[in-house]
Amino acid sequence: MIVARNFSGKTVGVFGLARSGISATQALAQAGARVFAWDDNASARVNLSGVMEAAWQEWPWNEVNAVVLSPGVPFTHPMPHAIASHARALGIEVIGDVELFAREIRRDQARPGKAPVIAVTGTNGKSTTTALIGHILSACGFDAQVGGNIGKPVLDLSPPAGRTVYALEISSYQIDLSPGLRPDVGVLTNITPDHLDRHGTLENYAAVKARLLQQTAKDGCVCIGVDDPNASAICTRLSSNGGPQAIPVAIGKVLGSGIFAIDGALYDALGGRAIKVMDLACAEHLPGAHNWQNAALAYAAVRPFVKDAKAVADAIARFPGLPHRIEDVGRAGKVRFINDSKATNADAAERALVCFSDIYWIVGGRPKEGGIASLRPHFSRIRKAYLIGEAADDFARTLSGQVPFQTAGTLAHAVELAFADARASNAAAPVVLLSPACASFDQFRDYEERGDAFRALVREIASHPVKEAS
Ligand code: ADP
Repeated sequence: MIVARNFSGKTVGVFGLARSGISATQALAQAGARVFAWDDNASARVNLSGVMEAAWQEWPWNEVNAVVLSPGVPFTHPMPHAIASHARALGIEVIGDVELFAREIRRDQARPGKAPVIAVTGTNGKSTTTALIGHILSACGFDAQVGGNIGKPVLDLSPPAGRTVYALEISSYQIDLSPGLRPDVGVLTNITPDHLDRHGTLENYAAVKARLLQQTAKDGCVCIGVDDPNASAICTRLSSNGGPQAIPVAIGKVLGSGIFAIDGALYDALGGRAIKVMDLACAEHLPGAHNWQNAALAYAAVRPFVKDAKAVADAIARFPGLPHRIEDVGRAGKVRFINDSKATNADAAERALVCFSDIYWIVGGRPKEGGIASLRPHFSRIRKAYLIGEAADDFARTLSGQVPFQTAGTLAHAVELAFADARASNAAAPVVLLSPACASFDQFRDYEERGDAFRALVREIASHPVKEAS
C-alpha cells in the first residue's frame, strides 16, 4: 500500500466506498489522517478500520481539508453531486485516489531512483494497452506496478522500489479528480463519442482527455493514436506547443516520424527512417487492427525505458491477452469458442466480427442506442445468430431476411444451440462467438459475470469427448 503521508494529521472526507474509495480510506488512516467516510448505498458501508462512518452532511466541515470523491460520483455533468458543490462552496478541494497517489509519488521523486509513471487514457483499448505495457516491462526485468481503472486501485500498489515503473489506466472521470498527476509518459489511445452523459459534449470529453497529456512532464513524452480526428487534433496541438515530445501512432498509414503499423507489421520511424519491429500476427492474443493500435501504443510507451526493441517485440508476441476481450476459451472438436463479453456496444462487437468467419454469434442483453444496425456490412461472416436477453425482439428485426437467427433467451441455451449447429456445419473451423453488443445487466451482474458463465459452459462442453459429425 502507498500511504497518503501528505495528509497525516489532516481531516479528510471520503465519499463513495467502492474499491478505490476503500483503498483511499486505508491509505489515509495509515498516514494518521482523521478520516470520515460515507456512501449513499448502505451495502457499500462496510466496517473500515480507523475510519469514522458518518453521513457527509454531518462531517465537521469547518475542519475538513479535502474530500476524496469516487470517480463514479458525478463531479461536473450532468450535475455535480451535492457533496461536490458543498465542498467547492466552502473552498475545500475535491480530489480522487489518483491525486493522493500522485502527491506521494511526487514526494518520492525528490529522492534518487525515481519511479516513472505511465498513464493511459482514451475511449477504447485502455485496459489492453495498460496490461500490455505492464507485461512488456515485467518481461524486460522491471517491477511493473499495474493499476488504476484496471485491477488494483493505485494506492494498493507497492511503493517504489528499485526498477519500479507504474502503468496506470486512467478514466476521464479520474483525470477530472487528479490535477496533480504528472506522468512521465502519457498515452491517448483514441477518442470517439462515449460517456457524453458524464461529460456534456464531445469537445468537453476530448478536453478532459487532453488534460492528462498536458499534465505530462515536460521532459517526458506523450504517445497518441492519431487514427481518429479528435485524438489527431490533440497530437497536432501538443506537437507545436513546446511540451513533452509528442509521438504519433498510426495504423494503416505510413508516418515520416512516429510509430506505425502497416499490413500487420509494426515500424518505428522515430529515428529518421522506418525500422521494422515485428509482425503483429505473431501476437495471437492481440487479434485485429484495434489491437495493433494497442500494441503500437504500448511499444511507444515503453520505448523510453527499454532500448532493446527485440525484447519488446518478443514480449508483445507472448502477451496472454485479457479475459473477456476476444478471449479464446476453448475448443470442442473443430469448434472454437471466443469470449468477447466486454463488447457491450456494436462498435466493440465489430472488432470481433472482423476477426473471424463462419461465426455462430451469441448476441443480446440490454440494448444500446442504435442496436446492431451498424454491423450490417459484417453480416456475411455470420452463419447464424442466437439472441439472448431484452434485445432479442429488436435484434430479430434487424437480422430478419439477412442472417438466420433463433431466439435463445438465456446464454446457456444459446451456447447449446450454437455449438450443435457449429459442430454439424460444413465449416472447417466454425467459431461460437459471444460478442453481445449489449450491456449485461438484464441477466448478469456485469460483463465479467457474463463472460465467466460462458467460459464455464464451454468448459463443460469441452470436458466431454466430441465426435465430429460426418
Ligand atoms: P477499455 O479499457 O478502454 O474499455 P479494453 O482494452 O478493455 O478497453 O477493450 C474493450 C473493448 O474495446 C474490446 O473488447 C474491443 O472491442 C474494443 N477495443 C479495444 N482496443 C481498441 C482500440 N484500440 N480501438 C477501438 N476499440 C478497441
